[in-house]
Amino acid sequence: MNAIPKVGFVSLGCPKASSDSERILTELRAEGYLISPNYHDADLVVVNTCGFIDAAVEESLDAIGEALAENGKVIVTGCLGAKADVVTAAHPSVLAVTGPHATEAVMAAVHAHLPKPHDPYLDLVPPQGIRLTPDHYAYLKISEGCNHRCTFCIIPSMRGDLVSRPIGDVMQEAERLAEAGVKELLVISQDTSAYGVDVKYRTGFWQGRPIRTRMTELAAALSELDVWVRLHYVYPYPHVDEIIPLMAEGKILPYLDIPFQHASPRILKAMKRPAAAENTLARIRAWREICPELVIRSTFITGFPGETEEDFQQLMNFIDEAELDRVGCFTYSAVDGATANALPDHVSDEVKEERRARLMERQADISADRLAARIGQTMTVLIDEISEEGAIGRSYADAPEIDGVVVIEDGADLAVGEFVTVEITDSGEHDLWGEVV
Ligand code: SF4
Repeated sequence: MNAIPKVGFVSLGCPKASSDSERILTELRAEGYLISPNYHDADLVVVNTCGFIDAAVEESLDAIGEALAENGKVIVTGCLGAKADVVTAAHPSVLAVTGPHATEAVMAAVHAHLPKPHDPYLDLVPPQGIRLTPDHYAYLKISEGCNHRCTFCIIPSMRGDLVSRPIGDVMQEAERLAEAGVKELLVISQDTSAYGVDVKYRTGFWQGRPIRTRMTELAAALSELDVWVRLHYVYPYPHVDEIIPLMAEGKILPYLDIPFQHASPRILKAMKRPAAAENTLARIRAWREICPELVIRSTFITGFPGETEEDFQQLMNFIDEAELDRVGCFTYSAVDGATANALPDHVSDEVKEERRARLMERQADISADRLAARIGQTMTVLIDEISEEGAIGRSYADAPEIDGVVVIEDGADLAVGEFVTVEITDSGEHDLWGEVV
């Protein structure tokens, strides 16, 4: 009997890229390929790349180079794959290059260079597919691409316009994941609030029931699965108001990940940000009135071309008044192909960095105060790992990998994926400490 063909897999980039990787891995296993944990045993290697910023392009090209040196047979997919000429210029010997969300094209390339095993055992595939996240949480991708044209971003040129997945397919995947033991679903896309715009909010079906392809209806349907539902990449459009009551009623997590990026109307306009004209502060206040537990995470960019000290002060005032829970801040960096590169009045690296540091210093105090206010509260915590420190988990206020954690020093007996009630006893700048109640 011939040895079963083995494929090595390198997955780089954001959760959206991980979700593509999961699909390709699931397909490979469905067809009977084995996944090799190292280059040496693999018959060929698939590298799923990221091309968002120059550093990611370099990391991706290095990973391709390493796979070629160690194995020799490499198929490239993902965001950088959308720029096939960049890949082939650096590495002419790759076997094939495809863009993002191209499972079929990747499988065709794998078949061409490593024929399918003769007798696939379909039952090797667990019903929830192969996932890169731990068993207890999973990313749920609801759409691909983006209809916006933010001037600093090249995702639309790499991933194309918005294409929403049929709501029936999304719900079936979510249901399968919940049945397989997943406790938390992280809804991702480039713009979650735009879900369904491309299909005019078409009605789909789940369990024989009509449901519109729309964020509110999706959130309500997901809430029936009895798992944590966390929304990422939401823009502050008026219709986002509709999901706040679902949060207040405990149906989905009172957590919103909204990449505001700036607060100066002039800069937001130059960035061509979605919902740039909305009165965001008033909207946040109204949301908090309906749902006081609401936690908001956001990201910002300092030093966008043309940003004056006055623009930056507007951003700092917003930071003061919005009192966001979690904030990430990046300095503007010119991405090859982004239209913002052509804007006048680029800001020096020193000023960009100095503004970033000022913003993060101010935010650190705000985050620390908001966390300190949790001391004495009881919170439900989902356990992510057991370590020497005890158990480490997250409350509704923490998304995996990007937010803080809750450390439970007396939690060594807890199990990964378990929900526990914890009394918060201490807090830091990012994390909380607590005891099992
Ligand atoms: S919303 Fe803007 S930043 Fe986000 S993917 Fe679309 S164009 Fe890029």
